[in-house]
Amino acid sequence: MSAADDTSAPSRILVVGAGLAGARTVLELRRQGHTGWIGLIGAEDVPPYDRPPLSKHLFDRPAPAWLADELAADALTAADDVLLGVRATGLRVDADGVRVSVAAAGDRPGALPDLPTEIAADAVVVATGSTPMNPWPAARVLHTAADAESLRHAVADARRLVIVGAGWIGAELATVAAAALPDRLEVTVLEALAGPLPVLGAVGELTRDWWQRAGIDLRTGVRVATVDDGGVTLADGERIDADLVLAAVGARPATDWLDGALPRDPDGAVRVDEWGAPLVDPLDGPVTHSTDSTDSTDSTGAPLPARSRVRLVGDVTRRRSARHGWVSGGHWDAALRAPAAVVAGLLGEAAAEDPAPYVFSTQFGHELALYGHPGHGDEVVLRGDPDDASGWAALWFAPDSDRLTAVFTVDRPRDVAAARRLFAAEQLPELDRVAAADPAVQLRSALRA
Ligand SMILES: Cc1cc2nc3c(=O)[nH]c(=O)nc-3n(C[C@H](O)[C@H](O)[C@H](O)COP(=O)(O)OP(=O)(O)OC[C@H]3O[C@@H](n4cnc5c(N)ncnc54)[C@H](O)[C@@H]3O)c2cc1C
Repeated sequence: MSAADDTSAPSRILVVGAGLAGARTVLELRRQGHTGWIGLIGAEDVPPYDRPPLSKHLFDRPAPAWLADELAADALTAADDVLLGVRATGLRVDADGVRVSVAAAGDRPGALPDLPTEIAADAVVVATGSTPMNPWPAARVLHTAADAESLRHAVADARRLVIVGAGWIGAELATVAAAALPDRLEVTVLEALAGPLPVLGAVGELTRDWWQRAGIDLRTGVRVATVDDGGVTLADGERIDADLVLAAVGARPATDWLDGALPRDPDGAVRVDEWGAPLVDPLDGPVTHSTDSTDSTDSTGAPLPARSRVRLVGDVTRRRSARHGWVSGGHWDAALRAPAAVVAGLLGEAAAEDPAPYVFSTQFGHELALYGHPGHGDEVVLRGDPDDASGWAALWFAPDSDRLTAVFTVDRPRDVAAARRLFAAEQLPELDRVAAADPAVQLRSALRA
């Protein structure tokens, strides 16, 4: 059944958040045949752009990478009404439709005199992404094109840069700062956990040499207590002077505006099924019967009218995955791909993809990729030698089993492609561990029949 044939499909659809997931949702709606009204509102007052280049190309690509160029299609043209520089401040859902209250974003309350206070629609897709965490007002963050612009200028004047956090973004920023300004910028990175890229556990430790070779003072197991204009004070009282302090300590889903409308996890994420439908009905409470991931009927429309009017996509979600359990947002690839299933569910189609969590990164001259979900207690098998210039990988296996839960690759594009295929099946793949540990053996050849 196509959307055009389905009389129960919503006619007016409002997409809130004009980042990657929001832009892709608008384009998917048109691609999947929605001919009704589409509205798009976004808090930033610029067209949608891509975030990964902000850190990777902070100094060599000053203009934003516009998504209209990257996606070869313009969501602003595909939508009927676009409001940029406008923030959603609340959501009300009832059996007849949704109402989103809106206000001018930032400190420009009079900037949009004709702005209505509320926008009504038959359904809403929430794609408001995430907000960087920053416990220290004197520290900067890098999340938006505007942050990148001001950070570029601030780094140009700095002699001592402290980055708090040695995760993906902290590592990328340390890489570009140390490479662009090697003779005059001292870069110190402070990480509270035991090693760099802590999401990788002990495997992150295998990247420590890269930091040292780049001339970065990486200090792990240190806790920042306060930040002021002159630097950082650690919890043990030690002082580290800096002209510029950048917090790269993670992000949380930007869902405060949904308070009272949808239940959220403590970190702000909203739990959704494979189609981006919330697992708690905004009117009726928990959707207990939908926790069976094979049950799709309730997320395709009729039985739960209020819930069927709300979808969430991208960094705001914690998505149920048959293979990986609960998958948190924060993945560019998910924001790119999930809108296809979300739109299909909204328009009455049942097909859903279950993309594996996938993060990519460029650090210290290396191309990194993480597929899947390293679990606590998983056993790690190395594939190749981390000192080998031709690259290496780490494989995580569920305890006492040959079930592969995650793959991390360094400069091994063929393993990235293989991991994508391995995690496309319904179940986690089972590999012969000995064969998989040999970098000369193709990963897919290690698959047990
Ligand atoms: C510097 C940086 C580098 C990154 N690099 C990588 C990488 O290498 N690999 C990777 O996998 N991921 C990376 N990510 C993460 C990736 O960019 C995100 O997962 C992705 O952008 C999520 O898309 P989204 O559309 O859900 O959210 P966003 O891109 O955050 O877009 C959400 C939009 O909604 C707007 N908004 C928020 N609240 C409201 C509101 N109340 N009303 C209206 N609009 C609102 C926001 O202003 C924003 O424009 C990076 C992120 C950053 C910041």
